[in-house]
Amino acid sequence: MIGNNNNNFFNSQKPKSFPLTLALVAIIFFFILNFTHTQPTIPILGFHGIIDSKNTTLQSYQGEMDYPKQDLEKLLEYFILHDYWFLTSQDLYDYFLKKSQHIPDDHRNKTPVMISFDDGYKTVYTILLPILSKLEKKYGIKVKVVLFINPGTLAKSNSRDVTHLGCRELREGLRRGFYDIQSHGLNHKDLTKLPRYQLVNEILQARIELRKCTQDLDPEQKVASHLAYPYGAYNKQVERYVSKYYLSSYLYNNEILNYGCLKNFYKIPRLMMNRKKTTNALIEVGKGWYPLNNNEKC
Ligand SMILES: [Zn+2]
Repeated sequence: MIGNNNNNFFNSQKPKSFPLTLALVAIIFFFILNFTHTQPTIPILGFHGIIDSKNTTLQSYQGEMDYPKQDLEKLLEYFILHDYWFLTSQDLYDYFLKKSQHIPDDHRNKTPVMISFDDGYKTVYTILLPILSKLEKKYGIKVKVVLFINPGTLAKSNSRDVTHLGCRELREGLRRGFYDIQSHGLNHKDLTKLPRYQLVNEILQARIELRKCTQDLDPEQKVASHLAYPYGAYNKQVERYVSKYYLSSYLYNNEILNYGCLKNFYKIPRLMMNRKKTTNALIEVGKGWYPLNNNEKC
């Protein structure tokens, strides 16, 4: 249609209309691009463990849920270089969901993203923390990551558990300002399958134990204020009890958060990250070009 219009413009008695048409097309493109960029979406990336592809001994235990170290580093570096804002769970809640606080001036032009890791794998300490530390030294930016932890599966002190984090390691990442420690239930049980008293125990005891581990480092009790449902499983009863003890809760449903539309803070969507997703595809996610899902329409 634009082509026909162009011809009409050419054939008309107003030759100056052609630049006008171009200008119109440019304006339409500007609006399309601008609209896409201003979609009120925040990608919340849900990782598990990390794998060092150079170290084959680690490759066996978690299968494809692990994400390659080299790709993760590349992705984080991209986010730093493109001025992303690494949200904590409390940032998301205060500035974008509840909107109880104004976004600070120095963050207004940044692109928000949340990087989360579930299940408390040891590699979040052995592989991720050195990467975060290295990036801080190189760029002077502290990348914050949200950890959803099951305190019931934390490695006991002096144990030989090589799979899971212990309290000491959680404390170190928190003290250094890299970890935002949140709850994933006490023992990673499917909360929809539990009788009421067990359900309450799973969500309440998780909060108590995580805060016990981090008490002196967390005077404002930000630890374990938010939860991610184990297996992403929830129902009305789960939601009701979780809302008594937590400010918000996260799903694992491979959808992007449209915070302009989200009315229920106990259904925050997250994108599933595993080694099948290439870093370049993730960068597209971060740009806000991720294919639209149903939850993006209010
Ligand atoms: Zn989990």
